[in-house]
Amino acid sequence: MAIESLFAEKTVFSFEIFPPKREAPISTVYQMLREMKGISPDFISVTYGAGGSVQSRATLEICEFIRADLGIESVAHMPALYLTKSGVERLLEILKDKGIRNILALRGDRAEGEEPAGDFTHASDLAAFIRRRGDFHIIGAAYPEGHQESENIVEDTLNLRKKVDAGVSHLITQLFFDNDYFYRLRERLDLAGIHVPVEAGIMPVTNEKQIKRMATLCGATLPKKFLDMMDRYAGNPLAIRDAGLAYAIDQIVDLAAHDVDGIHLYTMNNPYIAKTIYNAVVNLL
Ligand code: FAD
Repeated sequence: MAIESLFAEKTVFSFEIFPPKREAPISTVYQMLREMKGISPDFISVTYGAGGSVQSRATLEICEFIRADLGIESVAHMPALYLTKSGVERLLEILKDKGIRNILALRGDRAEGEEPAGDFTHASDLAAFIRRRGDFHIIGAAYPEGHQESENIVEDTLNLRKKVDAGVSHLITQLFFDNDYFYRLRERLDLAGIHVPVEAGIMPVTNEKQIKRMATLCGATLPKKFLDMMDRYAGNPLAIRDAGLAYAIDQIVDLAAHDVDGIHLYTMNNPYIAKTIYNAVVNLL
C-alpha cells in the first residue's frame, strides 16, 4: 500500500538502514535484511552518504532489493547539497524505472573541504524540484529540539512550513531521548498549521561508544534517567545493550499512548535490535 495511505489505517512502523561502508560488498546488507525475515515494517528507508564523492548507486540498489525481493515499500534518502539539478533528474528517472516512488528529501550536511554544487540550498528547494517532476511521495526531516543551525525554534518551525508548502507531505524526526521534545514539536506544528503525519525517530543506544557519538553529533539532550541507566551498566556491554533496548521500547510505548502517527526505527543495520524492538511493540501500535 502507498505510504501516504497507511497513516489513515494504522500507526506506521518503519525502519532505517544504511548502505555498507565503501570496503564492504552490498551483499552484507542483503544478508542483514534477510536476517530480519519474519518481521514486516511498513517501509524501509535507505540513507545516502553526504558529500560530492559518495555515489547513490548503493542506496538505489538496496531500495530496489527491498521493494522487489522483500516486497516491502522502500524510501530513498536524497541529500541535496552536492547534487545538481541534472543529477537529480537522472536519479528520479532511475527511481521511476525501479518502481520506487518514495523520497526523503534532505539538504544534507557540508562535507569538509568540498564545495556544494550550488543548485539546492535547502531541503525545500529539492522538494519543490521533485514535486514538479512526477508523482513522488516526498518526506522531510524535522527536529524535536530544533535544527542545530537554526537561530531559534520559531524560525525552525517556519522553515518546516516552507518545506511542507514545497511538497513534503510526511515528516520523520531526528532521534530524541525525551519524548516531551517530540510532543512540543507536534504542538508547534499544529500552531503553525502544519498538518502532515509525523513519525518519531527512535534510536536504541546499545553500546557506550554510541552514547558519546549521539550527544556530540546531533546534539540530542540525554536525560538524567538515561544517563543514570548508562552509568549503572557502564563496562557491561550486554547490560548496556539490554538497557538501551528497554529504554527505546519504553519511549515507543509512551509515544503510542500519545497517538503518534508512526515510529521510525534507526536499526543501525542490526537485525537483533530490529527484531527485538519490533516484536516488543508491534501489538501496541
Ligand atoms: P533543511 O530542511 O534544509 O534545514 C537545514 C537548516 O536550514 C535548518 O536550520 C532549517 O531551519 C533551515 N532552513 C530550512 N529551509 C529553509 C528555507 N527555505 N529558508 C531558510 N532556512 C531554511 N543526511 C545525509 O547526508 N544523508 C542521509 O541519508 C540522511 N538521512 C537523514 C534522515 C533523517 C530522518 C534525518 C532527521 C536526518 C538525516 N540526514 C541525512 C541529516 C540531514 O541531512 C541533516 O540534519 C542536515 O543538517 C539538515 O537536513 P534537512 O533536510 O533537515 O535540511
